[in-house]
Amino acid sequence: MITTTAMLRNWLRHAAALIHEHRELLTELDCTLGDGDHGLNLDRGFVAIVGTLTHDTEMSADKVLHEAGIRLIANVGGASGSLYAAAFCSAAQAVAGHQSLQAADVLTLMRAFRDGISTLGSAKAGDKTMLDALNPAVTTLDTALMRGRTLSAALHSAAAAAQAGAAATMPLVARRGRAVYVGEHARGHQDPGATSAALLVLAFAEVM
Ligand code: ADP
Ligand code: MG
Repeated sequence: MITTTAMLRNWLRHAAALIHEHRELLTELDCTLGDGDHGLNLDRGFVAIVGTLTHDTEMSADKVLHEAGIRLIANVGGASGSLYAAAFCSAAQAVAGHQSLQAADVLTLMRAFRDGISTLGSAKAGDKTMLDALNPAVTTLDTALMRGRTLSAALHSAAAAAQAGAAATMPLVARRGRAVYVGEHARGHQDPGATSAALLVLAFAEVM
């Protein structure tokens, strides 16, 4: 079985590739709803994460995620840098001491990742934030595993739910973050943070 550390490294590398691939879309969405920095900032943060993974090949599973959080704080300006850093640091605690991840551990990890963001940002469902992608991902993963689906199938369902959750932010007015300032003009535009969060869940599903 693949070790937790190797799996998490694969996740972060693949997430970096997906964020890089979608950086212009993320920035474009943030131009409408915020200040247009989301894609480029996150891309810079994930490039720094990949640099750390390459430089330090001996990290434990929790250190891998904790370092990812530190790199995001240092390299991503804006709300998403702190929020994703909180997510990775919270997820780090969830995997500490695990040599391999069982399905229930993956659910705990994803829940901790989501909780890191909700604890720091205090957003609720429907506020037009990252949580609108992460909440359905966690719920779907939980339900799919309870129904006896394989972890891979459950994660792919979670990724689809995250993507649907991101798309469902389109008609909403924002109640958190910079998009609050555009008020009603937020309607008709997908939230950039929910979009990047869905990419992180997709990256996870694709490497498992
Ligand atoms: P900034 O708005 O500071 O420029 P980014 O553009 O990097 O930061 O990220 C914007 C995204 O951050 C939003 O699309 C939203 O999903 C997310 N966000 C902002 N505030 C919160 C919050 N309190 N809780 C969860 N997510 C939030
Ligand atoms: Mg921004």
